Amino acid sequence: MPASFPPLEPEAMACPACDARGLQAFYDVPQVPVNSCILMASREEALAYPRGHLRLAHCPACGFVASTRFDPALEYSARYEETQAFSGTFNAFSRRLVEDLVERQGVRGKTVLEIGCGKGEFLVELCEAGGNRGVGVDPGYRPERTRTTAQVEFIRDFYGERHARVDADVIVCRHTLEHIERPRELVRSIRRQVGDRRDVLVFFEVPDVLRVLQEGAFWDLYHEHCSYFTAGSLARLFRQEGFDVVELELAYADQYVLLTARPADGPTTPRLPLEHDLDAIRAAVDGFAGACQRQLEGFGAQLRAAAAQGERTVVWGSGSKGVAFLTTLGDAAPVDCVVDVNPHRQGRFMPGTGHPIVSPEALVGVRPDHVVVMNPIYVQEIGRDLARLALTPSLRAAA
Ligand SMILES: [Zn+2]
Repeated sequence: MPASFPPLEPEAMACPACDARGLQAFYDVPQVPVNSCILMASREEALAYPRGHLRLAHCPACGFVASTRFDPALEYSARYEETQAFSGTFNAFSRRLVEDLVERQGVRGKTVLEIGCGKGEFLVELCEAGGNRGVGVDPGYRPERTRTTAQVEFIRDFYGERHARVDADVIVCRHTLEHIERPRELVRSIRRQVGDRRDVLVFFEVPDVLRVLQEGAFWDLYHEHCSYFTAGSLARLFRQEGFDVVELELAYADQYVLLTARPADGPTTPRLPLEHDLDAIRAAVDGFAGACQRQLEGFGAQLRAAAAQGERTVVWGSGSKGVAFLTTLGDAAPVDCVVDVNPHRQGRFMPGTGHPIVSPEALVGVRPDHVVVMNPIYVQEIGRDLARLALTPSLRAAA
């Protein structure tokens, strides 16, 4: 199902981040799996997985990118397997964040609320490292995966005002805001929850869409991500809702935006270097169709040429990036199978295309000639895994 870039009419809805009118649509993929992290037990089930419409629009006023055809009937449950905690690279990143929060930000002996805690790995680590008390809220939490003596409570539910904790000293929200259809309402509700307190620390982490647009990285755009931020647009949302943004940076090979904020008396004024990105966003939106087309043609040509030579290509990474990569390329992508280090994903099938998901060890039987690495940050880790298996395929990172 090819992506298309027709001249799109302005979207009628108000911006979900700033309420301005005049969203401008710029990307359209009519048939994407409605959820790219759901595990499929059979190829048939994977192929029959419901499709949705991915259409992105840009807000010239605040730089926010909205998915305007997002279908909220999306399935998010315990079958959702988003955890990256089986990767050494990702674990090292999480550990550094925990250290920074405990050592530099003084998150010790505090009450921490994590909104969208997933399987709870980060919250548990933060509570163990700093002697903190934790409350994690996430419908996809799985109690059998947690082993800790730390004081952590989990609530299997979508976060709502009913879970507001007036005693929370620290509010953490990682890789969740991009799944929220009305991000302004969530940030506003957090600000209400904080009330008159000024000593509360708020930490948010989201993917950076500016890089995605500049690189034409179509594999980073998924149906279940309904809200796309840059450093500047995320900071603008927090400032408008009564927070002072005290730190704003890119991390994880510049893929993620990290924002640290403190409650203020009202809207605050931008003062950090990364906040001034409206012109860069506009330019990236305008250049996206061309950048994306070059990526689609480049990968399509490479994969077809390999197949024509009788060579085998596998994709490493069965998460959202891998699903978006395979479904957007469609039949233009002859790929044998998909590799994942997460044992909970192995033996399952990719939603949409039905590719089997295998362990790295299974590659010994497949003997791939080429590996497309969905996240460039894992290239070294994957290179070591392949060397350990005495395999020497070419490695190409999606970038
Ligand atoms: Zn806006």
